[in-house]
Amino acid sequence: MSEMSVFSRCECQATLSAALDEKRHVLSGSATLRGKKERAAAHSIGADGERFDVGWLCPFCNRNTLRSFHVDAIRKSA
Ligand SMILES: [Zn+2]
Repeated sequence: MSEMSVFSRCECQATLSAALDEKRHVLSGSATLRGKKERAAAHSIGADGERFDVGWLCPFCNRNTLRSFHVDAIRKSA
């Protein structure tokens, strides 16, 4: 199964990550802040396009963070 990950930074400095399946649907999301890792609700929007968005609900500050990604920019996690 091919799995890819996208990363972003929340305004509270938490690192947001999401694992995506080959259709760019979110399998799981997480957020890390100062070494503490929490599960984060995440979902993808417009996953069929070349450019798509991933939204996270940050568990540390409760902000909704939306980031755009291009399919070429997402990397496969080995
Ligand atoms: Zn945050």
